[in-house]
Amino acid sequence: MALQIVQFPCLTDNYGYLVRDEASGLVATIDTPDAAAILTELDRRGWRLDFIFNTHWHPDHAGGNAVLKDRTACLIVGPQEVTRIAPLDRPVSGGDEVRLGQTVFSVIDVGGHTLQHIAYYDADDNMAFVGDSVFPLGCGRMFEGQPQQMWASLMRLAALPEDTLLYSAHEYAAGNARFALSVDSSPALKRRADAVFAARARGEPTTPSTVAEEKAANPFLRAPLLAEGLGLAGRPDYEVFAALRAAKDEFRG
Ligand code: ZN
Ligand code: FE
Repeated sequence: MALQIVQFPCLTDNYGYLVRDEASGLVATIDTPDAAAILTELDRRGWRLDFIFNTHWHPDHAGGNAVLKDRTACLIVGPQEVTRIAPLDRPVSGGDEVRLGQTVFSVIDVGGHTLQHIAYYDADDNMAFVGDSVFPLGCGRMFEGQPQQMWASLMRLAALPEDTLLYSAHEYAAGNARFALSVDSSPALKRRADAVFAARARGEPTTPSTVAEEKAANPFLRAPLLAEGLGLAGRPDYEVFAALRAAKDEFRG
């Protein structure tokens, strides 16, 4: 593999990710949930930070930008909205390319959780860093976007090759699984939920998961198939998605 990945828990339920292009030795952090934790992981490996790749502007994603910039003089790449709270050197949006040495990330517009949320997709290594857009068995809360926008974003991720690894920014899978089981009774979901609960009982992360796994069991990606059960047969897919998202916002389980 040409891209080395270090995954570590930080803050309450975030995951930090350091990625290193093996050919060039260049290193980036995906988001900056916790500058101190990121600096520790860098030091432990003797790595220098060359880039920050932000997915969206929320403080648990861009809140460490200023400290890391100050300490490492790294270059910060991300959506323009990051400037609401943090420094940014290169604004990017869907369709742009971001290079880390020989590794090329395609920027995918996954707006909805925030308006300019982006994902970083490395086709050669079959992986995407998706921030708070999609999670194992779930998706981000729709804080800023509209259902049509967020549904289109999720469909862009679902259209990636089936074996693409989706690296999400939070550990929310157990709660997501409980909600999913309340709206969907498919055998694939039952199996997946069992695997999620078992992984969490062992203290293991549930991300990354694959596009195929999410398409098979994630209720938000399966919205069109759940329409009838929700009394929304014949409605546009994004309306069914919106109903599921609203139900999850209210879910206490
Ligand atoms: Zn967020
Ligand atoms: Fe977040």
